Amino acid sequence: MQFIDLATQQKRIRPKIEENIKAVLDHGRYIMGPEINELETRLAAYAGTGRAISCSSGTDALLIALMAYDVGPGDAVFTSPFTFVATAEVIGVLGATPVFVDIDPVTFNIDPEKLQEAVDDVRRESGLTPRGVIAVDLFGIPADYDRIGTFAKKNGLFVIEDAAQSFGAEYYGKKACAGSLADIACTSFFPAKPLGCYGDGGAIFTDNGELAEKMVSLRVHGMGSNKYDNIRLGANGRMDTIQAAILLAKLDIFPEEIELRQEVAGTYTEGLMQITGIRPPSVPEQMTSAWAQYSILAKDWNHRETLQSGLKDAGIPTAIYYPIPLHLQTAFSNLGYREGDFPISEDCASRIFSLPMHPYLAKQDRERIVDVFRDS
Ligand SMILES: *Cc1c(COP(=O)(O)O)cnc(C)c1O
Repeated sequence: MQFIDLATQQKRIRPKIEENIKAVLDHGRYIMGPEINELETRLAAYAGTGRAISCSSGTDALLIALMAYDVGPGDAVFTSPFTFVATAEVIGVLGATPVFVDIDPVTFNIDPEKLQEAVDDVRRESGLTPRGVIAVDLFGIPADYDRIGTFAKKNGLFVIEDAAQSFGAEYYGKKACAGSLADIACTSFFPAKPLGCYGDGGAIFTDNGELAEKMVSLRVHGMGSNKYDNIRLGANGRMDTIQAAILLAKLDIFPEEIELRQEVAGTYTEGLMQITGIRPPSVPEQMTSAWAQYSILAKDWNHRETLQSGLKDAGIPTAIYYPIPLHLQTAFSNLGYREGDFPISEDCASRIFSLPMHPYLAKQDRERIVDVFRDS
């Protein structure tokens, strides 16, 4: 059994993928070919956003979004310590300061209740200027954008949605990356994400035309009217045409795959709810997860070890997202955080783990996984 099975999907749409790649080989426009524009139009329509801008990765999407706000030294950007490193890395790379805010223990997303205190502390004590929030839709469940948005407006901050794991998710009838959830949304098409290409790729979404124009420029070295007219410093942030061609083939079946993910998660949750001592994921009402990961909490570190090794013996792979919260990572040691600063993130990191999750996980495999829990 595989943790994420990309081969079954490929088998299903291989002729279309080959046809799309062949079209790129035939026209030869490897950079910014016609597939790029077609993909952007389809992504914007799918998400319900004014504008989708394809780019080189989810990390570069976040970087370009922060650059659009001229984030730099002296600025504070608030985010979760319980996420993939890229979310906070981009803040630090620009010379700004990531300020971590602990998470909600149920959704694993940034706790809106704790944001105001964090901003007030920064204003009072640090000499930094609060600029914005990067909220992460961890494992595919959208963050609480209503409350985050209200808080941000009151404090004059921007909101960026890190939707690297949530493309295809829903929040009160809107899709993740919909223009109305945050000022800018960023997603990733890394192969293992819910919508993945065959290399690195990402996209940026916004309803704000001015920001969109600026990010289109930032994506190509800060270009002006043409690429040898440089009006600002930017990045080499384009998506390859071949990756766009692959994503176009995958987008055709993506809505159905999101449905299949609900089925897989449904079998898991139904079975695991009856087992004491573990906590299966809980999706808030009015939301749908994109199920990038199906992550459960064991009782403690030892219990996780026991469960993981039992599953491993039964041939079932598991993974830990994330074993060390970012405030305790060496790369952020300059920020001066200590163990105990974000107890909920630390507690989750010590006992969380994820089960195999992809749209093609057979019913008998899901049931076998649940059985291993039942017998352990
Ligand atoms: C994967 C991921 C990213 C980075 O995306 P890449 O395409 O790998 O650069 C950023 N944030 C989160 C939460 C992610 O899961």
